[in-house]
Parts: sequence; C-alpha cells; structure tokens
Amino acid sequence: MKIVNPATEETIAEMEMADAAEMDRAVERARQAFPVWRSVSPGDRARLLRGFARKVEEHAEELARLEIANAGHTVGNARWEAGNVRDVLDFYSGAPERDHGRQIPVPGGVDVTFAEPLGVVGVIVPWNFPMVIMMWGAAPALAAGNTVVVKPAEWTPLTALRLAELALEAGLPEGVLQVVPGEGEVAGARLVGHPDVRKIVFTGSTEVGRLIAAKAAEQVKRVTLELGGKSANIVFADADLDRAATTAPMAVFDNSGQDCCARSRILVERSVYDDFLPRLGRAVQEVKVGDPLDPASQMGPLISAEHQRRVASFVPGPAEYATGSCPRGPGYWFPPLVLTAPKGFDPVDIEPGGSHAAFRRAFTEEIFGPVVCVVPFEDEAHAVQIANNTQYGLSGSIWTRDVGRALRVARAVEAGNLSVNSHSSVRYWTPFGGFKQSGLGRELGPDALAAFTETKNVFIATD
Ligand code: NAD
Repeated sequence: MKIVNPATEETIAEMEMADAAEMDRAVERARQAFPVWRSVSPGDRARLLRGFARKVEEHAEELARLEIANAGHTVGNARWEAGNVRDVLDFYSGAPERDHGRQIPVPGGVDVTFAEPLGVVGVIVPWNFPMVIMMWGAAPALAAGNTVVVKPAEWTPLTALRLAELALEAGLPEGVLQVVPGEGEVAGARLVGHPDVRKIVFTGSTEVGRLIAAKAAEQVKRVTLELGGKSANIVFADADLDRAATTAPMAVFDNSGQDCCARSRILVERSVYDDFLPRLGRAVQEVKVGDPLDPASQMGPLISAEHQRRVASFVPGPAEYATGSCPRGPGYWFPPLVLTAPKGFDPVDIEPGGSHAAFRRAFTEEIFGPVVCVVPFEDEAHAVQIANNTQYGLSGSIWTRDVGRALRVARAVEAGNLSVNSHSSVRYWTPFGGFKQSGLGRELGPDALAAFTETKNVFIATD
C-alpha cells in the first residue's frame, strides 16, 4: 500500500498489508503476553504507562509531523493531538493503582468482587484522527491489564506504528501493544472474528460498525462502537449571535469536516435567520485553508482523491450560500461550503428523494467534509424535533442565554455529547460516545475502564 501525503500527493511510505495469517500471529503473541502483563504489579504497570506517556511527550513534535504528513492535519491540530495522546496515557496510568474491587456484606460469609481484565483487545481505528483514537482504546485497555492489537486505517498507519515502537522503548513487554496495518475486510475482519480476541473497540462508519456488531455477536464478543454523526448546532434568537456565527464554521470545518462530532446541521431560529446568515458567510470566507505546516492554516486537505469525489457528490450547486477558498492541486483540497435550505424545504421530512432531494441528502447523510447545511426553525420544540430527526446521536451545540432552555434542550436532544455556548466535544476526563446509531458504550473518562474488565464475584463461606 502506498501511503500518500494528502496535501502534496507524494508517496511518503510503502507498507505491507497484513493478511489473516499475519493477524493470527499477532493475536497469538498478544495471547501469550496477556499472563505476563496481567501479573505486572499495579505499581509497575502504572510506572510503565507513565513512562510511555513521557516517551510520547519527548517525541510529540515527531508524532505531530508524521500525522501532518500522513493525514493532512494542520500543525495546530496535530500538536494538540500528540498532547492528547500523552494526557490520555497519563490519565489511565493511575488506574492500576486505584481501580479496586468491592467487598459486599452477605449472610454466611464474605463476598468480594474483582475487576478482571478480558484478555486480548482489538482496536480498529479510522483515518480521521489516527493516533488519538488508537490511544482512547488502547490506554484504558492496557491500564486494565489487557493486551492490545491495533488495526489502523489503510491510509494512516504511520503514527500508530511509531507509538508501538515508543511503547517498547518505554519498557512495555513484547506483544502487549502491537500495531498491524492491513485492509479492513482482511486483517480487520480477522481480528473481529478471531476467537481469542475478547473485545473489539471500533471507531469508524456506522455501516461497518453494524457489520462488526453482527459478527462479534456470533461469539458474544464485547464491543465498543464509535460511529458516525450528523450533529446539530442550535442557535436561538437570544444567543450571542456574533459568537455563534463566528465559531460555527470551525465547529464543522475543523479537520476539513472529517470529524465525527462536526456540527454539520446549523438550525437557526427564524426571527434571526436573516441576521445570522451574512455573519456566518463572512466567517466562512475568512477560514484559511492551506499548507498544513503553516501555523496560520485552519484547514488542510481531505484525506484522498476518492474521498474528495464523495464529498463533491453532495454539493447540489445552486443552493450554495457561501464558499471559502482553497488551494488548487496537487493535494486533495476542498473549499468550505455553506448550503442553505431551499424555499419550501421541510427539515422534518427526511425521506430521501422528492423535491429538494439534493439538499435533503446533504442535510441528512454524514458528508465527512467541509460542507454545512443551514435551516430555520420556528420554536424550541421544532428545534428539538429537527435535531433528533436522524439515525445519529453523537454531539451537538446549543446557543442561548436562557439557562433553563439550555438545560431543557440539552436533556431533550438525543446525543451523547452536548455543549452549551461552546462547540467542545472531547475532554479526556469525561465520557464520550453516541446515542442511537452513533455508537455503543463510552470512551474516555473513568467509566471507560469498566468496558475493559469483567466483574467477578467470589463468595467465601465463613460459617
Ligand atoms: P470505516 O468504517 O471505513 O473504517 C474504519 C476502520 O475499520 C478502518 O481501519 C477499516 O480498515 C476498518 N474496516 C473496514 N471494514 C472492516 C471490516 N469488514 N471488518 C473489520 N474492520 C473493517 O471508516 P473511516 O472511513 O475510516 O472513518 C470515517 C468514519 O468514522 C465516519 O463515519 C466517522 O463519523 C467515524 N468516526 C467516528 C468517531 C466517533 O468517535 N464516534 C470518531 C472518528 C470517526
């Protein structure tokens, strides 16, 4: 597989893709490493993970540059991501020393629970945030005493491979954290189907997530799924319209819109719709798209030519309201784009086809590119109805100065990560994940650890 820099179209590496037999060997190494890792004392396991975090810190700039070259991330984002990988490792490194079982009073004896590691955990990663998403799965899994096999996305294996080397340098035993590049339908499918893999953490499209859930169910294998999104950014008339409008573009266009939390549907209360649109248009035209290595760039290229064609297929043309600018090739560039609802469009009707079919498709499907749709709403109930009128439920934003309304709407929107007067979705201290077809289970925060252990109950008779 040729690994290509999406900003230049240059081949930066060539990679051998693992077949099913190669994946079997990796799983076998992980299986053999499990008793070794599990028996490392909690204090030593914590020290090794902290050491891994320090290695990431020392190599943060190198990791950031690899991510820029491989995934086209802007330098600001890539540095944040390297810092996030370190922070997530630091956060979970404390777990081995503080994650205790319980003692429950029962008649006739003593009852204790243990949080037992599962064994081999498979982590399947998409291309949009390669190193952070790998570590959101791997760090808590390792902290809980599991061994981990990572299958990075075909296009973006470089930071994952480097992280596996840094883990070895930090002293993690051989086989505890392995990275196996390969195709999803070959190496990924084998990881999911392998009887010695006890859990799969999958981040990617809802389409593949469904396949993985079905296949895992055959072995009653545990799964955590982080899938697609079509999140709403709800702007009420009483909001700070300037802040709402100037922040809305990067809430979609960050990472070129290749973000599962992208607020790609902006819902604006009708009484301020005509006031909001020009402010949004000006903000979009100011988004700086260009060389990822230039610190002034806010947006880089899309990941590939194939993805560029897919994103372009969503743009109906006549409905465009505002377009930003972007470089010409080489590189898989795409300008930031605002589409407004055509007259007579009903945002509650999401049946495909009919009149306004092109806009409806852009408004309902996950585009995963720098395209945002704007529609007006009538009142609070209408806003919630539109926001929830989707198979997805990952994130969302609510802009209002009325705290009661902010909380009412936050409780009513069916999504896992909501922010009020903000577009923040990811904080490693707090749980992250989706409602409905955006996923199953939660990552990050203290709760994620429970997803990597089984509760064992032991009763000891004393009478
Ligand atoms: P994808 O589903 O095509 O691929 C994701 C990973 O799964 C890749 O490593 C791929 O090789 C592997 N894969 C593909 N088919 C497989 C199979 N049959 N068996 C096992 N593995 C298989 O997704 P993508 O295009 O890489 O990523 C984009 C998608 O990821 C978007 O839908 C986005 O919303 C989603 N995403 C979700 C989150 C979240 O946290 N909810 C975060 C980032 C991305």
